[in-house]
Amino acid sequence: MKKRNRKRAARRALKVVHARPRTLVPAKKKGPMKIGIVAIQGDFEAHAAMLQDLGAETVEVRTVQDLEGCDGIVLPGGESTTQLQFLKEEGLFDAIRKFAGEGGAVFGTCAGAILLATLVKNPEQESLGLLDMTVLRNGYGRQLASDVFWGDTALKKEPLEMVFIRGPIIEEVGKGISILARHGGKPVLVERGNVLAATFHPELTDDLTIHQHFLEMAGRQLASSAAVS
Ligand code: GLN
Repeated sequence: MKKRNRKRAARRALKVVHARPRTLVPAKKKGPMKIGIVAIQGDFEAHAAMLQDLGAETVEVRTVQDLEGCDGIVLPGGESTTQLQFLKEEGLFDAIRKFAGEGGAVFGTCAGAILLATLVKNPEQESLGLLDMTVLRNGYGRQLASDVFWGDTALKKEPLEMVFIRGPIIEEVGKGISILARHGGKPVLVERGNVLAATFHPELTDDLTIHQHFLEMAGRQLASSAAVS
C-alpha cells in the first residue's frame, strides 16, 4: 500500500474502532534499534512505517515473547478499554510495566497515553501508571472529538501537525513531567525519563519529529544500560 493510502486506511480504521524471569531490556546491541508495537487494533502499521522510515526495525507485539530484544515499545491509539483487557489477558500489562521499570522506552499515543497514566477518568479504569498524570477520556467532547491542529512543540521550531481522534485531556501532571506541547492550554505531549505520551496521532501525519525523538529516547536508555554493564 502506498504511504498516503496506508495513512488514510489507518485513519479510517481508527474511526470504526468503538467498540518473566529474564530481563526484557537488552543491555547492549549492535544494528538497528528494535521497536515493538502493540498490535491489537488501530494504527499500529502507521507507527511501524514511520519507525522503519527512520531506520528502526519493528515487531508487532501480541505476546510477551514478542517483546524480547526490543529497545522500545509503542502503545498505539484505538480503544483503551479493549487494549487494557488484551494486555491483561496476555500478561503484557505486567511485562510492559517491568520493561519500563528496567528503563525501556515506552511511547503511547491517544489510547496508549491513557494506558500510561496514573489516573484515568470518564470512566475510571486501570492503567499502567507509568506517567504521573490524570487523563479524562474523550475529554474534548463531540465538537473537538476529531480534528487537526498545528501547534508549537519543544521539539522543533516549526508548528507540528496534531491529529486528534476522540483524544483524552491531560487534566493534571505530576512533578517531573515535561510538557513538550499544549493545545487549548492543556498538555498534549508529555514525557518523563523513558516514557513519552501524546494525546494526538503523530503517526497519521508525515512528520517524523516525535518518532525521531522517541528513538533518541530509546537510544539514550541503551547507551546508559551499556555503560553500567
Ligand atoms: N477514545 C479512546 C479511548 O478513550 C481513545 C481514542 C484514540 O486512541 N484515538 O480509549
